[in-house]
Amino acid sequence: MYANNQPMNIPNPFPNIEVNLVTVQQQILAACQATGRDPQSVHLLAVSKRHPAAAIRAAFAAGQRAFGENYLQEAEAKMQQLADLELQWHFIGPLQSNKCKAIAAKFDWVHGIDRLSVAEKLSQGRSIGQHPLQVCIQVNIDQEPSKSGCTEDQLLDLAQQVQTLPGLKLRGLMCIPTAGGDATAAFGRLRHLLETLPAEWQLDTLSMGMSGDMDAAIAQGSTLVRIGTAIFGPRTT
Ligand SMILES: *Cc1c(COP(=O)(O)O)cnc(C)c1O
Repeated sequence: MYANNQPMNIPNPFPNIEVNLVTVQQQILAACQATGRDPQSVHLLAVSKRHPAAAIRAAFAAGQRAFGENYLQEAEAKMQQLADLELQWHFIGPLQSNKCKAIAAKFDWVHGIDRLSVAEKLSQGRSIGQHPLQVCIQVNIDQEPSKSGCTEDQLLDLAQQVQTLPGLKLRGLMCIPTAGGDATAAFGRLRHLLETLPAEWQLDTLSMGMSGDMDAAIAQGSTLVRIGTAIFGPRTT
């Protein structure tokens, strides 16, 4: 197994990534078939945080185009190393105010909007010549003190305000259920919350599901699964 852009005599240093990607795609397919969903309606985001640019390059060679990162500086370094590839970059980490401008300039998607101040800064950081930044609002679906995300009560107000901000296109909602909790119930609540938002906004994204709970997320209507470990292996750094 060799990445397309490597000479045949140099072994691919990431031989598992292509196999893992196929396995994950098959898992998505099976989860869709089990619940009567169209497999095209579930997008795969490869979460590459704490994995090197070369791992992203291997995934690209296997056909993957959308990558998720949690840390701005780490992502910027990889963007530079991978500038020759057409990639779609998603910021999925917690948003710090002082990073929003650079995040808005460099990423295609941001999943973790949880308060108006960061949404405003993202809006200000997106220049007029760029496509709107595609954004999701993160809901703290299990009301964990340690986790980012707005409360269910705050959601409608926040969504209404994000809707009006220039340079942003609100696509839907994101959540990370509590580890070891009832993920199915949490995903079901997020889906219900999306349905309570005005239909004329045409929100089409439920960003939910990671390596450990992808099947449950798809069964509950996920349209975008964020998968790291199952593609790139465990994070060791
Ligand atoms: C790290 C991370 C993921 C990927 O998690 P895995 O369990 O490795 O699949 C998904 N979403 C967010 C927000 C993350 O921070």
